[in-house]
Amino acid sequence: MSPANALTNPQRPGRLTSLLLNISTREVEVRHVEEVGAHFRLVTLAADALRDASWTPGDMVQIIVSGAALLGPWELRSYTPFAFEPDTGTTKILWYVHGNGPGSDWAASAGVGTPCRLMGPRHALSLPKRDRPLIFFGDETSFSTAIAVRETPSGYRDVRFIFEVSSVEQSRAVVEQFGMGDGVKLIAREEGDRHLSEVEGEIVDAYRSAAAHGVLTGKAPSIQRLYKALRTSGVTARRVTNIPYWAPGKKGLKGH
Ligand SMILES: Cc1cc2nc3c(=O)[nH]c(=O)nc-3n(C[C@H](O)[C@H](O)[C@H](O)COP(=O)(O)OP(=O)(O)OC[C@H]3O[C@@H](n4cnc5c(N)ncnc54)[C@H](O)[C@@H]3O)c2cc1C
Repeated sequence: MSPANALTNPQRPGRLTSLLLNISTREVEVRHVEEVGAHFRLVTLAADALRDASWTPGDMVQIIVSGAALLGPWELRSYTPFAFEPDTGTTKILWYVHGNGPGSDWAASAGVGTPCRLMGPRHALSLPKRDRPLIFFGDETSFSTAIAVRETPSGYRDVRFIFEVSSVEQSRAVVEQFGMGDGVKLIAREEGDRHLSEVEGEIVDAYRSAAAHGVLTGKAPSIQRLYKALRTSGVTARRVTNIPYWAPGKKGLKGH
């Protein structure tokens, strides 16, 4: 198994694999935790080892959310920092606590001083390179990435955010706290994904009127459907970037 595969297949590891994971991750600890609405936690991670790290908005990190690198087995999960400060060796992630897996459980129980190991930052999506007007689609797992848009040279300017969410009210707390403002549409999930017709209409219209580029993140089946609708409406593939963050019944997606 190559080192890359070894690091991303969270199975029972051999000793060499465990050693490689230990070498390629940095020891960090939780500096601060803040509740944002009922299901979101803003977690600040800190370490001297982050002082020399470089970060571009949209980069991801992977975190060992259960187990330990040298002991294994472990579970590695992907997250998107929305801020990174090399001077203080800190990074911030907005975590969605969905309650179905070890990554979610880790965030739910993390407190000041909780240690963990982190890999990255590494490339997932280059937000500064995306043309404006930009249309950004996602869900609760995409809020941290959406907030990272603020750190690009153009900030939130000319960005239309559309999110499918389980609770519009709880998600609004995030939108307000992070100043995403008028360019945000929160659409409540419906039985059988009926709400996706509305999302589809919004996104196709945004392209017709102005959008230069689209970024589709979040739930894999939603991305597939929206991508298909965009291509059918004549949008070229290079004007859309797809990054699935999770899929029902699958664990630990890595974003490619
Ligand atoms: C590049 C990348 C960046 C990401 N950035 C962030 C981020 O910044 N913040 C964030 O909160 N998440 C982010 N995610 C999503 C996160 O990695 C997934 O939600 C992941 O599955 C969480 O791990 P888990 O251990 O909680 O669940 P897993 O063990 O992976 O999955 C267990 C079960 O939970 C389900 N599940 C996973 N996510 C959800 C969900 N959102 N709602 C309902 N059920 C779910 C799975 O389908 C599976 O059935 C990112 C993912 C990728 C690939």
